[in-house]
Amino acid sequence: MYINDQDKHTVDNCRFCFMCRHVCPVGMVTGNEANNARARAELISMVARGFNYTADMAEVVYECALCGACTTQCCTGFDPLPFTKNARMEALAADIAPAYINDLLDKIEAEGSAYGPVTDEALLSEIASLPEKAETLLFLGNTASLAPESAVAAIKLLKKAGVDFAVMKSEPDCGMDFADIVGPAEEARQFAAAASEKINAFGAKTVVALSPDSAKMFLREYREWGIELNADVRTFPAYVLGLMNEGKLTFTASEETVTYQDPFRLARELHETEAPRALIKACAALKDMYRHGEEAISCGEGTIGLYRPDLTVLMAARRMPEAISTGASMVITACPTSYNALKAVGTLPVKSLEVFLWEHC
Ligand code: SF4
Ligand code: SF4
Repeated sequence: MYINDQDKHTVDNCRFCFMCRHVCPVGMVTGNEANNARARAELISMVARGFNYTADMAEVVYECALCGACTTQCCTGFDPLPFTKNARMEALAADIAPAYINDLLDKIEAEGSAYGPVTDEALLSEIASLPEKAETLLFLGNTASLAPESAVAAIKLLKKAGVDFAVMKSEPDCGMDFADIVGPAEEARQFAAAASEKINAFGAKTVVALSPDSAKMFLREYREWGIELNADVRTFPAYVLGLMNEGKLTFTASEETVTYQDPFRLARELHETEAPRALIKACAALKDMYRHGEEAISCGEGTIGLYRPDLTVLMAARRMPEAISTGASMVITACPTSYNALKAVGTLPVKSLEVFLWEHC
């Protein structure tokens, strides 16, 4: 049984509590009580007491976006994510995970990633223009496939700043999606360790992680799993802010007012809320949504979009009116899955942070 004593302690407390249901992006759009942390805790507490773990329960476990809003909201310090991840391991071991999860796992195992090779001509051309090796590695992550125009803008920004950098011609998957699906299993650690070996072999002194998913993996999971990256790892917003503060990049301010959707991996898991805001404020006026920063409501980003895009569509549509209510003329986000989710809503223009900065550079 992968559900451990700490999980049992957490679920026995969460199952009597409703206090985080108003921040759960999935529960808010489905209206299904089972999607909140409390009900999921109740189900897992039953499994821990010997009840049959059914496929219906496993489906609910996979409907969590792992966004961490419940954890941030919890006044009593409980964190539903570890028991949710362990319940995923348990579901896979018991062969009751939803079919769409097994399909996605098969794809990742067969192709090495959920996204496939980079095919965007403009991005391939930018990558080809870079040196084979450099002191700084720009790790594109899933931005390369999900929002190649953002990756192009990121490369142009670093070129303009005069950074000696390169992009791996054959980048490994950082392992974030695999870890989200299988939980903290040894297979997830091995997947990440294999990626780390390729990144270390590149020999960069600094790794700039463009995608928040990769940044979170490198700075949190790799360290917790004892996987070493022999480089200083920086998030893209923090790195570019450093370039701006050193005078290597300058931005021209416009009259626009924009709002910013914090990706939960950056804001909650890496506590990075100010670097993107400092960059945006160099280019435009910023009007934040009511719940922002570490309290931001997810718009459906993360791994859940790979297997339950129907939920992502609903979450983005629920979040967009909050962006519109700020009076801003545009939403900026620093994460390719947030970008695609919000863009698909179509009621307010959406730009990635990279493209927005490049347009003001
Ligand atoms: S995480 Fe905290 S607020 Fe949410 S259900 Fe558990 S105890 Fe309640
Ligand atoms: S992690 Fe997010 S989606 Fe999952 S229960 Fe908590 S608030 Fe809801």
